[in-house]
Amino acid sequence: MTADARPHAAGSGPRPIARLSEIAGAYDVFLVDQWGVLHDGVALYPGAQDALADLMAHGKRVVLLTNSSKTVAVNEARLATRFGVGRASYHALVSSAELLRDALAARAARAGVRVFCVADAGDEVLLDGVGCTRVDDPAEADCVVLLSVAPGEGLDEHRGWLERARVAGRPLLSPSADALSVSATRGVVAGLAAIVAAYAAGGGPCVNFGKPEGAVYDAALAGLDVPPERVLMIGDQLESDVAGARRRGFASCLVLTGAGAARVGATEPRTACRVLAGPNVPEALRPTYVAPSMAF
Ligand SMILES: [Mg+2]
Repeated sequence: MTADARPHAAGSGPRPIARLSEIAGAYDVFLVDQWGVLHDGVALYPGAQDALADLMAHGKRVVLLTNSSKTVAVNEARLATRFGVGRASYHALVSSAELLRDALAARAARAGVRVFCVADAGDEVLLDGVGCTRVDDPAEADCVVLLSVAPGEGLDEHRGWLERARVAGRPLLSPSADALSVSATRGVVAGLAAIVAAYAAGGGPCVNFGKPEGAVYDAALAGLDVPPERVLMIGDQLESDVAGARRRGFASCLVLTGAGAARVGATEPRTACRVLAGPNVPEALRPTYVAPSMAF
């Protein structure tokens, strides 16, 4: 093991790195966020595709981990056709929406399930073939599924159904509760966090199937015998990618592409590490490393 391949000591603050190759030797499994790390919805970030190839060539296990509102198949097809990242570029892709879909399908098979679904145009196809019954009133549903909202929409546009669902005590299932989202057309925009947080604050039960909650990590590491300290999560969001990794005892690398630089308020790793080591950032959100991008 080279000096650079030693795991970063816990508690010593985030460490700036220039490229992933500086630290890759310390890890066996690489969990890679998709949006904001591999691409911005329109184009791949420079070096991202080569980094996947380099990790695979070094014998690393590479799992793409996405808080997406779409199935694994849709994510894989989009990666291949829009970005040229085919199935040979990684070992597996885990989508939180697929886990949500699986949970609904299991419930539907057991007892039937009535769903009030909130989704931006097209995303509601996630529920096709699940066997659930769609209803138009959250009070008549067994649960609310919040997949996505239309561009520019936020809490204000959704207060009506939220209040009706909350009064009825319906569980709110979502594939993410991210504060920020990377949009192909609008850059870094608000995610579902405000809506989910408002529901929870009103006493509504919430189930997030995405990072930082545990279901995606269980799926990503299923069948792998790897100690948590040999796992590195690469992401652009502190509250989901970094916090989720820390909860599981994984190392984490924040990249300053996607929402990373905007969230931290710094565009290069050394400055970002100073901000992240400061008193305004809770320990639970401090990554092990900060890199300018996914480049190897
Ligand atoms: Mg991301």
